Amino acid sequence: MDFDESPEETALRAEARAFLDAHATRSDGAGLEDLETHRSHTEEEDKALLDRAREWQRTKAAAGWAAPTWPVEHGGRGLSPLLATLFAAEEADYDVIGRMFTVGVDMVGPTLLEWGTAEQQSRWLPRILSAEDVWCQLFSEPGAGSDLAGLSTRAVLDGDEWVVTGQKVWTSGAHYSDLGMLLARTDPDVPKHRGITAMALPMRAPGVDVRPLRQIDGAIHFNEVFLDEVRVPAAHTVGPEGSGWGVALSMLTHERASIGGGGMYRVAQLVDLARAMGRDRDPVVRQRLARLHTSERLLEFLGYRVRTAAARGVMPGPESSVMKLVVSDFYETGGDLMLDLEGAAGMLTRDDAPYGGRFQDLFMAQWAPRIGGGTDQVQRNIIGERVLGLPGEVRADKSVPFRDLPRS
Ligand SMILES: Cc1cc2nc3c(=O)[nH]c(=O)nc-3n(C[C@H](O)[C@H](O)[C@H](O)COP(=O)(O)OP(=O)(O)OC[C@H]3O[C@@H](n4cnc5c(N)ncnc54)[C@H](O)[C@@H]3O)c2cc1C
Repeated sequence: MDFDESPEETALRAEARAFLDAHATRSDGAGLEDLETHRSHTEEEDKALLDRAREWQRTKAAAGWAAPTWPVEHGGRGLSPLLATLFAAEEADYDVIGRMFTVGVDMVGPTLLEWGTAEQQSRWLPRILSAEDVWCQLFSEPGAGSDLAGLSTRAVLDGDEWVVTGQKVWTSGAHYSDLGMLLARTDPDVPKHRGITAMALPMRAPGVDVRPLRQIDGAIHFNEVFLDEVRVPAAHTVGPEGSGWGVALSMLTHERASIGGGGMYRVAQLVDLARAMGRDRDPVVRQRLARLHTSERLLEFLGYRVRTAAARGVMPGPESSVMKLVVSDFYETGGDLMLDLEGAAGMLTRDDAPYGGRFQDLFMAQWAPRIGGGTDQVQRNIIGERVLGLPGEVRADKSVPFRDLPRS
């Protein structure tokens, strides 16, 4: 690709900056005081975060910046993913919460554009844009994570409604979501990838029990979701019955691309931390910072690659797996370095720690990207098989009816 900015890009950047200057406060996003982890530890913090994010989402929606890649007729700008990152990069320099509704905007929206009916698109897409409806992703189960196609939550058609029973887990944001994109088994008599159907589950319907899980840093991010004979209108089925695996693959591809797109912090902030802690002349620290800086640049270039492929209509393939692995490595290396820089103070948390414990939160957040959206090991399998041409994993269960598979 050509790295020089085209006239179209320069014009778009200027338009984005004008909008951001008019509606938000510039923070540069690179100083230590600008570093916000956006983690909530209490219900009140959660609500305050959600209110702030919702207000900003509405401001963006009114100006057509809420989902720049969506078609114009659905409230987007029809921009290529590459051009859309220009806006995200500018937005990162302002004091706003830009990525709270990423499941709806970056994952469900594009999936509905691909698989949803015209009626579903006109009902749900505007409400995603304005954050009236917040969506979550009801895929993983206690017995089905990496092996997602082995899921056992079942849905049975009763007249014009599905009756759904089962359990989901690790559902990010389920405790404040209105709808969830659910994968359920609707035909156990065919092999596991074929008997799955996707549908939009109303999160406040009778029979939905959301139980928040508290994480290692005390924050509430994801949940267990118990489903007990929940009735879902058949009109909420996304894609043809039995084609849920295709819907899932679309949504997971969009998820991987969006994980690579946003950073929790910048290396410049770790350089500032090194200075503030009087460690910036230490040659080992400098070496570690240099390594992180290299990863940050690599991620930028890998991001261009994935988004260029998407702009040409090519589904990002193993590139997004490579990018996800580099993201994991970046957060691992950075997380370890930030606590080393704080020395003994690294053992403190929250208000007792330097900078309100932001770096402790980031240190502990490093495990999330290594697992969410497909674990590091699974990404390595994809790269091994599709890039290096290594023999594929043995998948003896591919042609066996789901009903006959041994399950614990
Ligand atoms: C922060 C976060 C947010 C999440 N949000 C959501 C969400 O909103 N919605 C949702 O549905 N899910 C969500 N998840 C769940 C996530 O998708 C799963 O955790 C992930 O797919 C792994 O599944 P698992 O936890 O069941 O682990 P398992 O699949 O049980 O894996 C356990 C271990 O075995 C390894 N392993 C498994 N299979 C293989 C293999 N074939 N080859 C080599 N190693 C293997 C894994 O790498 C891992 O180390 C989230 C997870 C995290 C961490």
